[in-house]
Amino acid sequence: MTYIGRFAPSPTGPLHFGSLLAALASFLDARANNGKWLLRIENLDPPREQAGIKETFPNILEAHGLYWDDELCLQSDRHQHYQNVLDALLLQKHAYRCNCSRKEIISRCGNTVYDQHCLLSPPNTDAQCAIRINSKDAQISFTDLIQGQQNDRLNDYGDFVVYRRDNLYAYLLAVVVDDYLQGITHVVRGSDLLSETARQIHLQHILKHPTPTYAHIPVATNNEGQKLSKQTFAPALDIENPVSTLFQALKFLDQRPPQELLSASKEEVISWGINNWKISSIKKTMAKPLQVRT
Ligand SMILES: [Zn+2]
Repeated sequence: MTYIGRFAPSPTGPLHFGSLLAALASFLDARANNGKWLLRIENLDPPREQAGIKETFPNILEAHGLYWDDELCLQSDRHQHYQNVLDALLLQKHAYRCNCSRKEIISRCGNTVYDQHCLLSPPNTDAQCAIRINSKDAQISFTDLIQGQQNDRLNDYGDFVVYRRDNLYAYLLAVVVDDYLQGITHVVRGSDLLSETARQIHLQHILKHPTPTYAHIPVATNNEGQKLSKQTFAPALDIENPVSTLFQALKFLDQRPPQELLSASKEEVISWGINNWKISSIKKTMAKPLQVRT
């Protein structure tokens, strides 16, 4: 079996402990399966990008003993791929143009679940438009390696946007196109993305792409139960102290690292992690508090 995994951070803020969990889990799962591990920077949204931050990602990963294969991939270099897929989706009538504002949708529908208004009455050809995928009545079932059986009705989300009205490619489109073009077979990432997965699989079905195996690890929360993120002021990773961070991450991922690893080198910690990796040990939960003490 060929295994190709990936880590795909967005450069909207510094890498923090939550980012490291996703990086480490996807890395160890790939290496334990003799697979490749790719690094993709998801910089689709220049206004939200923090200047200079993506340049720090490679160093921080290497400082934690995480080395990727092949060339680093930047989504900003891949617009032509996304555009080709968008054109095909429009041509095949899987996608349609929509110029409704969020305000208009809420006032018409009472919430943001889209009502296919522009599918039924298309906007003028010169209107500034988003592009949505017709997903009416689609039902998606898949088995997540950690979170178990998932069944989603896409009507609950409404037709989703693959191209934004402010002229940006949407994450849902880019991630599906990149996973396909990079031959990704396994996606290990935070459970905050679990609810996006059914829409990604729906798009894969339309595009006749294979569906990777998904595993959504629990996200780490602070003491207030908030997900560690830039918005909750999660501290940036400390590259001076990789061993204790890696040890903490292995513990969080239910891998039971022995206490002696705390005095080992980062290479030894990583190699212990690969040799003892058991994705089945990760408990099925969407989120849990980060225990700071070891
Ligand atoms: Zn519309």
